[in-house]
Amino acid sequence: MAARCGWLADVVTGEVTPDVTLLFDGDRVADVLTGDAPTLDGPVLDLSGCVVTPGLIDLHTHLTGEEETGSYGDILMESEADAALIGVHNARRTVDAGFTTVRDVGAFRAFADVSLRKAIDNGWVVGPRMHCAGAYITCTGGGGEVTGFSADVCVPDALRFGVADSVDEVRRAVRQIMGHGADLIKVIATGAVLAPGTNPGAPEFTEEEIKGAVDEAGNYGAFVAAHAHGAEGIKRATRAGVRSIEHGSFADDEALALMAERGTYLVADVWAGDWMEEEGTKKEWPAETMRKIIESTETQRDAFRRALEHGVRIGFGTDSGIYPHGMNIHQLAKHVELGMSPVAALRSATLWASECLGNDEVGILAPGRYADLVAVEVGADVDRGSTNPAEVLGDLTQFASQMRHVLKGAALVR
Ligand SMILES: [Zn+2]
Repeated sequence: MAARCGWLADVVTGEVTPDVTLLFDGDRVADVLTGDAPTLDGPVLDLSGCVVTPGLIDLHTHLTGEEETGSYGDILMESEADAALIGVHNARRTVDAGFTTVRDVGAFRAFADVSLRKAIDNGWVVGPRMHCAGAYITCTGGGGEVTGFSADVCVPDALRFGVADSVDEVRRAVRQIMGHGADLIKVIATGAVLAPGTNPGAPEFTEEEIKGAVDEAGNYGAFVAAHAHGAEGIKRATRAGVRSIEHGSFADDEALALMAERGTYLVADVWAGDWMEEEGTKKEWPAETMRKIIESTETQRDAFRRALEHGVRIGFGTDSGIYPHGMNIHQLAKHVELGMSPVAALRSATLWASECLGNDEVGILAPGRYADLVAVEVGADVDRGSTNPAEVLGDLTQFASQMRHVLKGAALVR
């Protein structure tokens, strides 16, 4: 099988190349040919009106859940089976939306994500390639706990798998979570917007505790992603050696300089705040949740802009599940709006995201890599031979509406 592409967005060189033919061997890219298309025997997919990019990567998803009420009561009304089946639905929506790989950074029902990954890998259901965190490592009453209930309510153990309160307990939690099939570790370093009673600005783990997670995960060859809004939590996690800071809402310049120096990725869900504010107002989410959304949305965008100035590595992650799954791509244009070039924004969701994952089989379209790709229709007014990325890619706003095809492993998803 082959695909004739109007343009290929090369996220390594930053160029858009007209008239490219991609040859596939099984689920991999066999060759990338430019110029006059050769005569081909097998089936050829005509993407001549489209710009083709590598399949997109979202580094921050929660496929086995979706926020409805702005509080955690509904989690207790869902069984493990519910979480798994909701995950099946969301995996389909995610891959349909052009995201062929995700890093799923935590499930309240521990390991529902790992089961979903297994179902996708076995071909039982359609979904993206998944890197799974399995559960949250969080302190008692922390941002990764199911909080907000009265003190005499016992939250089931299955929802508290990674609760840990010392270096030793953190190490044990990492061993248990990795042993149950996780690919990475998610540590909750500060309070969270949606967890009642927690303060997003406040640190929750000591630097030693986070370092315990990093060291122990390292024994499995795995990275740690740290949820951190507040500056102190970001600094502790960065110094402890985490791979990425999630959210980064109140990052000060010292934190950003430290991240740039250490090569720590910033994965900031800079689009979701708009959706949450609108939806939360409409559905009358709790006042505490609304206050925390409003307090963190614009500060996060400001931190993102400053992160670019500091040269912090940016990975694309949307916190899907906070908003309805399948809308991930809206954040691409947001990256451009906040100061990235269109090529850089694409890199954050392809090349750089694959580097953050440590996955050299996705992220670019090159021989040997998975034939995961997205085809987006280019306006008829654009010169067919154009090599100008700004012209062909625009400001990426058309990506949400003009996506025509998604291939995962050379198989057409839609
Ligand atoms: Zn999240």
